[in-house]
Amino acid sequence: MPLSEFEVINRFFASHGLRRPEVTLGIGDDAALLTPPSGQQLAVSTDTLIAGVHFPHETPAGDIGYKSLAASLSDLAAMGAEPLAVTLALTLPEANESWLAEFTEQFFLLADSFNVQLIGGDTTRGALSITVQALGLLPGDQGLTRAGAQAGDLVYVTGELGDAGLALLVLQDELRLPVKDKAQVIKRLNRPTPRIKAGIALRNIASAAIDISDGLVADLSHILKASDVGATLQAGKLPVSDVYRCYFDVAGDWSVALSAGDDFELCFTVSEKRQGEIERIMNGLEVRCSWIGMIEQRHGLRVLDDQGREMHTGSGYDHFR
Ligand code: ADP
Ligand code: MG
Repeated sequence: MPLSEFEVINRFFASHGLRRPEVTLGIGDDAALLTPPSGQQLAVSTDTLIAGVHFPHETPAGDIGYKSLAASLSDLAAMGAEPLAVTLALTLPEANESWLAEFTEQFFLLADSFNVQLIGGDTTRGALSITVQALGLLPGDQGLTRAGAQAGDLVYVTGELGDAGLALLVLQDELRLPVKDKAQVIKRLNRPTPRIKAGIALRNIASAAIDISDGLVADLSHILKASDVGATLQAGKLPVSDVYRCYFDVAGDWSVALSAGDDFELCFTVSEKRQGEIERIMNGLEVRCSWIGMIEQRHGLRVLDDQGREMHTGSGYDHFR
């Protein structure tokens, strides 16, 4: 007999152990109840992943579980919020036990590592889709938004860009890589690291921040628009992996690092006088952080190649274009 909806909920979701003191009532009633500590704001963000759109149909269940949570936590990181709890709306073609076991194992592995409690959700039948709503805490007077970048600020990114984009090219048979390199980039695509500690550290230092889900060009452009400024980047300063470096040496192509999505790194701006401070803090967190360009009065985003010539940049992923 296939599992019923309530067996699925009880077996795979309601029984997990982690409990946060701020959660007065978790899974099992019509709504969860939270009591945020006084003086704290609640940061709320929702992300949906759809099979065939946000991940290839063949993606292993564990990777889907991990990534759907990572994408939502990444939004909290970009606001400088500390993750507290999540809800999970899951639409499944069938109640497949081994699929659910792998999905939840990796989902809870990541949730536990950030001390995040699953407090509710919805379980329905249909084409595979996963919606995670993340709730985080942020001291009342703090926060990190897309608005606030000023001319003269430095533009930084955490980690490395482009490996997730290379992985998609590999999965679409548009690029061949040695087995080890292929495994590395696919891991970056399927198991992104939400930059929570970096985001919290940036709370009072960065002038603006965003997480890179749709590609650097698209996401930095959101900062520029919200802050009413422009920027110039140097392609040669983009932080990339050794695998990307080899790909660049053959293909001469920065466009994947500039425009492909799914890296889930943070892009942030900071005033020049805080450069030393930022680099010390990121060093202490062991998060690579790279200065890639400058915020300017002049609107628009310009990217210069190694000869200082302006490059054409694609825009990022847009579901309706
Ligand atoms: P209702 O019909 O009142 O909306 P449901 O029957 O959908 O309630 O859900 C019962 C309980 O199980 C609720 O507390 C709900 O939040 C929780 N729940 C349902 N699906 C999930 C899921 N995938 N993950 C976590 N909690 C879930
Ligand atoms: Mg309901």
